[in-house]
Amino acid sequence: MDSRIEIAKGDITKIDADAIVNAANSSLLGGGGVDGAIHRAAGPGLLDECRRLDGCQTGEAKITKGYRLKARHVIHTVGPIYRHGQDNAGLLRSCYLRSLELAASNGLKSIAFPAISTGVYGYPVEEAARVALEAVNDFLGNDDTLERVVMVSFDDRNLKALQDASRGV
Ligand code: ADP
Repeated sequence: MDSRIEIAKGDITKIDADAIVNAANSSLLGGGGVDGAIHRAAGPGLLDECRRLDGCQTGEAKITKGYRLKARHVIHTVGPIYRHGQDNAGLLRSCYLRSLELAASNGLKSIAFPAISTGVYGYPVEEAARVALEAVNDFLGNDDTLERVVMVSFDDRNLKALQDASRGV
């Protein structure tokens, strides 16, 4: 695994990085889970900017400022709602890749991800951890702008899934 990838446990809203990633919904107008936590911590300026973005499609990403967060930017991506018969892994991988592309094209050096889609969107945690780490590792293989990518777990199950997955990447 690329040495720039770090696996951590905690609250992503507290992380000091050039960007934190929000597991948003397609309206970009806020929600529960990590989305709600990021909007609460960032303050109302974030929602004002999000209102001007006209939503975001599943697997895509959009960037805003970080407002009251320690992080300078928020990259909003929309994970897939896990469904049988859909290319869940392709869409989830796309969230990570599009977010990393946005970070790199904006000259950012550090970015932190939550476990996209593993909350109310129902993506199996172990499978999601493998998709996430593979996507980040593949991207970094062709990138020399990013210096640090933090995979942030809110709970022990996600943390263990990432640690296990890191042995196979
Ligand atoms: P989704 O709709 O993409 O499933 P959720 O917000 O419901 O998004 O959950 C995504 C993941 O984010 C879950 O694993 C959840 O435990 C985690 N999470 C929730 N709050 C935070 C937080 N403050 N920091 C980091 N991760 C969080």
